Amino acid sequence: MLSIPNAGPAGASPIAMASPLPRRSRQARVVWGDRVVTVGGDAPVRVQSMTNTDTVDAIATAIQVKELAQAGSEFVRITVNTPEAAAAVPYIREQLDRMGETVPLVGDFHYNGHRLLTEFPDCAQALSKYRINPGNVGKGDKRDRQFGQMIEAAMRWDKAVRIGVNWGSLDQELLAGLMDANSRRAQPWDARQVMYEALITSAIESAQRAEAMGLDGNQIILSCKVSGVQDLIAVYRELARRCDYALHLGLTEAGMGTKGTVASAAALSVLLQEGIGDTIRVSLTPQPGEARTQEVVVASEILQALGLRIFVPSVTACPGCGRTTSTTFQELAKQIDDFLRSQMPVWRTRYPGVEKIKVAVMGCIVNGPGESKHADIGISLPGTGEAPSAPVFIDGEKAMTLRGEHIAQEFQQVVEDYISRRFGATAEAL
Ligand code: SF4
Repeated sequence: MLSIPNAGPAGASPIAMASPLPRRSRQARVVWGDRVVTVGGDAPVRVQSMTNTDTVDAIATAIQVKELAQAGSEFVRITVNTPEAAAAVPYIREQLDRMGETVPLVGDFHYNGHRLLTEFPDCAQALSKYRINPGNVGKGDKRDRQFGQMIEAAMRWDKAVRIGVNWGSLDQELLAGLMDANSRRAQPWDARQVMYEALITSAIESAQRAEAMGLDGNQIILSCKVSGVQDLIAVYRELARRCDYALHLGLTEAGMGTKGTVASAAALSVLLQEGIGDTIRVSLTPQPGEARTQEVVVASEILQALGLRIFVPSVTACPGCGRTTSTTFQELAKQIDDFLRSQMPVWRTRYPGVEKIKVAVMGCIVNGPGESKHADIGISLPGTGEAPSAPVFIDGEKAMTLRGEHIAQEFQQVVEDYISRRFGATAEAL
């Protein structure tokens, strides 16, 4: 008889499903016109991104904002670094409104934000949220005054703010004070631990100053960005423990390509699983020729992989192996994935719920039919030496077999017909 070592005794509890822990934060409202994007509280974890165009070029910036929004970014940050950039902001907003794009804009301010928000009221009004870096608001007695001017602008125009601390621009006076205090400890902390403390103190004390000035605490979002995965986890765990402000999460300067993607996914996943993080940004350096929207794709995929959000239909594909010696299988998997993503800006409104479907593209008979049956719609391609036919499974049942030269195009059509049949009816009923 087959014995199963270590099996639970009769009556043992089943293994619990893993799911993110809850952390209930305050809820901020990032608003443009009728569009309200809530952050924190019971809101889903939001995806945000940042443009890399020159803000002064209002048309190029508006086009990129729209691309990022269409890729799924729920608010988009633009740098506001000069009077010319501040003057361009209302035109960017106007262009977006003309294009029917209501995504809220966030202004990124450093050094001169107090002046720009005061001298360009149309800019202050057109933005939906301000990012303030407490390390870059001025030194000495100017610091509190200039920080205060930005908070006053947020209150005047009823905007949310992110107090965004970054270890690359940490408040040096605060850090020096903490270093001094540390040197007087009987057992001084490690310099890295003092830096963690400085990041968290800078964020929380700045938020408390803003609240003392009258800014609604719900409208404050905090971030403390560092570029090391373990540093980020350590800092955000402590930040989340010490406050209930909504938290913006992201690994700063994550890097390029695979390295940036994996580092961001590793750091953000650990924290999101612990319930830490209300909005995320993946700070990828685009590779030459790569679309800026890649950072939105990665951020969305992290949330979707963790089961926190669903943005696009998921394509399950096997990795291929020695049983798939042609590239047909890889090409079909890519074609279907690209097709589904490219349709989503339209399908989101035309076919409500379409993002939940699962499509399987499998390379051979070993796992192909089984995985395809678990998906809403799946295809099992012929592996090397198998009969040149591809069974298609719809809702767990074998529905047809595709053969010949045009399997890829035919399968794409089958997927499109399935979506239209299944979700078109939902759309009509709404
Ligand atoms: S399903 Fe077939 S082709 Fe794909 S990895 Fe498994 S054995 Fe290889």
